[in-house]
Amino acid sequence: MHEMSIAMNIVDIAVQTAQKNGAHKINSITVEIGALSGVVPEALEFCFEAATKETMAEGCRLEIVYLKAQAECSACGFKFETDQFLNLCPQCGEQVFAAGGQQLQVKAINVD
Ligand SMILES: [Zn+2]
Repeated sequence: MHEMSIAMNIVDIAVQTAQKNGAHKINSITVEIGALSGVVPEALEFCFEAATKETMAEGCRLEIVYLKAQAECSACGFKFETDQFLNLCPQCGEQVFAAGGQQLQVKAINVD
């Protein structure tokens, strides 16, 4: 499952950052997940606990900030948020491709 490797990657980044700052324990990790990143938040949460086993992040909370993609219609200029790459403009029915929403990054960690 590809969320497992993503979860391990997130834990790695958090542990490295915590160690650099002389922390002993990670309380929570905040990650931003874009709607078009292909990552399913529920699947990531499921893998996260296993990924933290026997690390200083064990038992820590995973806070997910889910970001929608932005779309702007080139025909009528209407702007809207979406979680799909291909959309139909709600205003005029034109095809609109979403931009952004692909991010997957560790935004913040809370340590002791
Ligand atoms: Zn439109």
